[in-house]
Amino acid sequence: MTLATLDEVLRPAVAEGRAVGAFNIIQIEHAEAFVAAADRTGLPVVLQISQNTVGYHGALAPTALATKALAAAASARCVLQLDHALDESLIDEAVDLGFTAVMFDGSTLDDAANRDRTKAIVQRCHAAGVSVEAELGEIGGKEGAHAVGARTDPHDAMRFTEETGIDALAVAVGSSHAMTNRTAELDLELIRKIRKVVPVPLVLHGSSGVPDATLTDAVGAGMVKINIATHLNHVFTAALKDFIAANPSVVDTRKYLGAARRAVESEAARLLQLLALR
Ligand SMILES: [Zn+2]
Repeated sequence: MTLATLDEVLRPAVAEGRAVGAFNIIQIEHAEAFVAAADRTGLPVVLQISQNTVGYHGALAPTALATKALAAAASARCVLQLDHALDESLIDEAVDLGFTAVMFDGSTLDDAANRDRTKAIVQRCHAAGVSVEAELGEIGGKEGAHAVGARTDPHDAMRFTEETGIDALAVAVGSSHAMTNRTAELDLELIRKIRKVVPVPLVLHGSSGVPDATLTDAVGAGMVKINIATHLNHVFTAALKDFIAANPSVVDTRKYLGAARRAVESEAARLLQLLALR
C-alpha cells in the first residue's frame, strides 16, 4: 500500500472518535515491529523519525528509505513523519525522500517567528502533498509547550491554527517528554476546551508517561494522535536485557535485537488497539 498522509489517517479517526498511535523509529527493528503491529491489528500507524535520531545516525536517508520500503509493503495504512524538526533543510530533504508528514517544532522560537516559519513550511509542504503538525511558540517569555507544567491556551491555539494552516496541533495538557514512569495526569477539561475551538486534530506528545486508562480518557476528550516513544524504548531495552541475562554467552546481535523487536511489536499492537478503543 502506498504511504498515507497524516491528514488522510487522522480525518477518519476524528470522524470515528478514535486515535492513531505514532511511534518513533531509531533502529530498523523499531520500523519492522511497528509495521508488523499495524498489519496485525489492521489499524493505521504513524512511523516517526526525529531530528535527534537523524543526528544519531548522521543522516536521514538510510533509516527513512528502509522505513519507507517496509511501509510500502504493509497492508495497513502507514504515515512516514519527520518528528520534532527545526532544521528547514532537513524538512526539505524529508519531502524529497517521500515523507508524507512533518512536525515543525518551533516551540523554542518566539511566537511571531514560530508563526511565520510554520506558515511558510505549510505552504511548501502542502504544495508537495505533505501534512504538517506544529505547536505554539514561546508565549510571554515562557518556555515552549513541552516544558513540564506548560498548558496550551485554547484561544492562542485557535488563532495559531487558523493563521498557519497546519493539519494537526501538538498541545500541552499535562504530559512531558521522556518520562520513564507512567504517572502523568492530563487536564481532560482543557483537552475538551481546545478541541471545541481548534479545527484540526490534536496531538499528545510525551504520552509514555501517561497510564492506559488516562490515554483512553484523553482519546475520549478529543486527542487524535498519540505520540509514544520512551515507553516503547523501555520495552525494547527490558526485553534485550532479559535475553542477555538469560543467555550471557550470546554474540549474534539478531538474537537479542530479535527478542526486543518481538516485545515492541506486541506492545505496539496493544497500544494501537487501546487508542482505537477496541
Ligand atoms: Zn514529542
